[in-house]
Amino acid sequence: MTTIKFMNGETLPLEMHKVRIVQKLQLPPVEDRLQRMAEAGNNTFLLNNRDVFLDMLTDSGVNAMSDLQLAAMMRADDSYAGSETFTRMAGKIEEIFGKEFFLPAHQGRACENILAKTFVKPGSIIPMNFHFTTTKAHIVLNGGEVVELLHPEGLQVESTFPFKGNMDVEALEALLVEKGREKIPFVRMEAGTNLIGGQPFSLENLRLVKGLCVRHGVLLVLDASLLTDNLHFIKEREEECRDWSIRRITREISDLSDIIYFSARKLGSAKGGAICTHREDLFRSMRELVTLYEGFLTYGGMSVREMEAITVGLDDAMDEDFIGQGPQFIEFMVKEFQKSGVPVVTPAGGLGCHLNARAFLDHVPQAEYPAGALAAALYLVGGIRGMERGTLSEQRDAEGREVFSSMELLRLAIPRRVFTLSQVKFVIDRVQWLHANRHLIGGLRFVEEPKTLRFFFGRLEPLGDWQEKLVEKFKADFGDSL
Ligand SMILES: *Cc1c(COP(=O)(O)O)cnc(C)c1O
Repeated sequence: MTTIKFMNGETLPLEMHKVRIVQKLQLPPVEDRLQRMAEAGNNTFLLNNRDVFLDMLTDSGVNAMSDLQLAAMMRADDSYAGSETFTRMAGKIEEIFGKEFFLPAHQGRACENILAKTFVKPGSIIPMNFHFTTTKAHIVLNGGEVVELLHPEGLQVESTFPFKGNMDVEALEALLVEKGREKIPFVRMEAGTNLIGGQPFSLENLRLVKGLCVRHGVLLVLDASLLTDNLHFIKEREEECRDWSIRRITREISDLSDIIYFSARKLGSAKGGAICTHREDLFRSMRELVTLYEGFLTYGGMSVREMEAITVGLDDAMDEDFIGQGPQFIEFMVKEFQKSGVPVVTPAGGLGCHLNARAFLDHVPQAEYPAGALAAALYLVGGIRGMERGTLSEQRDAEGREVFSSMELLRLAIPRRVFTLSQVKFVIDRVQWLHANRHLIGGLRFVEEPKTLRFFFGRLEPLGDWQEKLVEKFKADFGDSL
């Protein structure tokens, strides 16, 4: 993606691809949306896709694929052992990461299962910049404990700090000194830190983390699922790397990591996962679990067609036009929101634009799920599906009390090459309208609350008739316009 300057001085992100396969969308009338939201229990996970106009729930497995990816899928070598497809994917991983040992898995969390089963024991401590939901679950399941050592600036919703995904290296050093390698099998760094708004770490920070790992004899594991976003921001924001190629930055990051794993639903824009390392001993320690849980070592639960698509998708991940496509749209949204006073996570990150629901709806207490209420309201006024990342996504404690989330966010994910700028502008407009009418938005309460992962299947209802009032005002302002 290129940023282009217009005659009037305005700069806009310009798409460096053309659309050749399309999927028809519909925007149901606002009255229908009101009904659909009620049927979905005010939970955007429970909406049917046919009732959604712009699906901004996630970036997982929904990037647009390229002509070259689709072409590659046709030549997949579907043999169980000795598959050419495997050889091509292994070769691409070695070319890009410089790691000769590759283990396939069916998606990111499958890699985490193998890593956790191999390295985590009861009492293990795994320091990381920040957790991801599935990562934490696998570590805890194997008796370990996650310790988040995010740079203090990382949890500031609004900030100008360019690398909010950085590790607090002083805190890491203290923990390594206190617990040592008997307790700490590896340190995990997550690229493009997902749950704090797609925020990057710097190469400098990764070097410091690696230095500590070497000094204490502990492995460094990189979760590279959101590496493309992180690469974009290192090139944009880190002085030293300004003139480096994306391949060079990738190699530098890879050389600091003992093990790299990723969800190819994100890195690779297809369906799968991978673990790679340059150390044969580590490869051997994980290998048998792949055959046990995933499949034979040449496919690991993936379809060979998807493996071919990943192989080409990894090349795309080294292309600046491709990797900038999400972040530049997100930056555009963030700038427009800042101009009109809509509270957003800053600086702009990868993955999606994150609205700060706590500030947006400062009259809705956390116990009434402001981020969930905002997600429901945005569907009502635009048919736009976002994802709640706040208290609803937490779990109650052992006594059944609410655990209030440190941030109340509504994530509007921007999968790469999927949306056009006019669609993005539509989202901006409807969010700005909601902000101007925010006093009309109220809270939610559960009518059906599952014990685990309640955000997936839970059903809620609005407190009072605020949704009818919101729709009334919408119709007064926009008339019959959708
Ligand atoms: C999505 C994701 C995972 C899990 O990958 P799946 O393919 O969904 O299993 C792990 N880590 C990060 C940072 C992710 O974003």
